[in-house]
Amino acid sequence: MSNKIKRPAATQPTSVVTGAAGFLGSHLVDLLLRRGHRVIGIDNFVTGTVDNIAHLGGNPGFKFIEQDVTEFLFLDAPVQYVWHFASPASPIDYLELPIQTLKVGSLGTHKALGLAKNKGARFLLASTSEIYGDPLVHPQPEDYWGNVNPIGPRGCYDEAKRFAEALTMAYHQEHGVETRIVRIFNTYGPRMRLNDGRVVPAFISQALKHRPLTVFGRGRQTRSFCYVSDLIEGIYRLMLSAYHQPVNLGNPAEMSVLEFAREIIRATGARSRIVFRPLPKDDPRQRRPDITRARGLLGWAPKVPLADGLVKTIEYFRRRI
Ligand code: UDP
Repeated sequence: MSNKIKRPAATQPTSVVTGAAGFLGSHLVDLLLRRGHRVIGIDNFVTGTVDNIAHLGGNPGFKFIEQDVTEFLFLDAPVQYVWHFASPASPIDYLELPIQTLKVGSLGTHKALGLAKNKGARFLLASTSEIYGDPLVHPQPEDYWGNVNPIGPRGCYDEAKRFAEALTMAYHQEHGVETRIVRIFNTYGPRMRLNDGRVVPAFISQALKHRPLTVFGRGRQTRSFCYVSDLIEGIYRLMLSAYHQPVNLGNPAEMSVLEFAREIIRATGARSRIVFRPLPKDDPRQRRPDITRARGLLGWAPKVPLADGLVKTIEYFRRRI
């Protein structure tokens, strides 16, 4: 007879992920399942796709509900964590879907916070570097308030996320909900939509077809690109932290869009040239996260170099073109 002491199985937490079929949502679901969570994913497939969660079919830890999160969320099960990721997130998507973008950031956040309050769950809002608008402070620390045009083409996204942050803080202060806010800077990796218009899928798909890469403006605007696995790890750590103020997550390695185009041509071995197209209105001229807070609080910093992340991303797009 074994004299081993039987320990009760540690209780398995349940997480709700809105936007579970999206780029970031689906990677988050994978990480949560690996870390022993039961996951309830919600998506209405406006910009998400079933391909991103198809590999989870038959996984007993994952349940999927097709629903618009601006509608009342009713769930029977106890829930410990709510991760609110539902939203169009590429400029082309939110230009096409301005009202849905405003609704998911406002009404959708309200419903997701209501669910967290009702269940006594911890809540994390996926916010964005877009709340800094076209920033006048560089790099951007969390205490910068931003420079946003509320009625410009990006206003529907920027203001929806700013409202979402305000509502999240109000639920924290008024209702005592345990809340977290992550401000996500440009992130890339497998499962981005080929045609979502963002610079990473746009340049890679152009390069893989040996077509010209369309650099907007003169390509002097800057971005800083974070590989998806780094970002998701930071988000997980933030949820487990005790910190309710916003935290930037992103890769501080900044480059111009023109440099990035050259990097994609190099990484794909494409015979593409570079062509210049008009700069879209209100396109932020510079963007780089100040990640001092994330480093100190979460012991987090990105690890995946751009060249390595691009290999994996290009491989993913190659299979789909
Ligand atoms: N961009 C570009 N060519 C493209 C798509 C985007 O030069 O085909 C530029 C865009 O103007 C912006 C940067 O790349 O300055 C990043 O754009 P993205 O749409 O990825 O997201 P943003 O960071 O602007 O939200």
